[in-house]
Amino acid sequence: MLFDVFTIFPDGLKPYLEISILQRAIKNGLLDVHLHDLRSWTIDRHHTTDDTPYGGGGGMVMKCEPVFAAVEDVLGAPPACPVIMMTPQGRTFTQHVAQELVAYPRLALVCGRYEGIDERIREHLITDQISIGDYVLTGGELPALVLIDAITRLIPGALGDPDGAQDDSFASGLLEYPHYTRPPEFRGWGVPEVLQSGDHGAIARWRREQSLKRTLEKRPDLLEKFDLTPADRKYLAR
Ligand code: SAM
Repeated sequence: MLFDVFTIFPDGLKPYLEISILQRAIKNGLLDVHLHDLRSWTIDRHHTTDDTPYGGGGGMVMKCEPVFAAVEDVLGAPPACPVIMMTPQGRTFTQHVAQELVAYPRLALVCGRYEGIDERIREHLITDQISIGDYVLTGGELPALVLIDAITRLIPGALGDPDGAQDDSFASGLLEYPHYTRPPEFRGWGVPEVLQSGDHGAIARWRREQSLKRTLEKRPDLLEKFDLTPADRKYLAR
């Protein structure tokens, strides 16, 4: 899968792409991330990408010309793939959206800065708008990395364990069950007996029940949309 990221701070994204699972996915040819510096598509000697807002007010606005020029140069006109604007005004990014987006072989991510982007970019270039949550960051680079990270985990073969993402929180519609590793006792705190029993049926049941319990305690809203089995209902009715 290929991501084209358009930003004025390409160096801000690099370190995260050079560690762990993303680095391995890139090395194994499953992921490619092309970082495009919007300043390369400016024509003035100061490489200006922003200007003052019409109507006055504080802050600067990202200009149309470098963003259109960069995206159309790299992706053609009209662009050959979805062009996603990172913005707090977009639809909220969830595991479900990550599952939807991993189906695309190529995605372009446009990172805003300052007060935001000229509205004509949103209207005439952008095909999707995504927010990573109801708060405002200084730029779209972290949100772009959040998307790349969450989507990469879903690319077949990107995680060491092929079933790794299957039980993750939200993937099934529930929060994931608790995990333990060695030692079996730490400061007097043990590990649930069932996990050491070797009984895979009992372990699967325990994990399912723990997922239901956690979801009920922490995110009851998820259960409202979840298709409960008769066994789930029996457990929750206890
Ligand atoms: N003035 C804008 C508003 O109120 O909607 C916020 C601009 S913000 C300071 C600058 C840039 O950071 C945005 O253009 C966007 O690319 C990015 N950004 C900030 N918060 C974000 C969020 N929650 N999700 C996605 N992108 C975000």
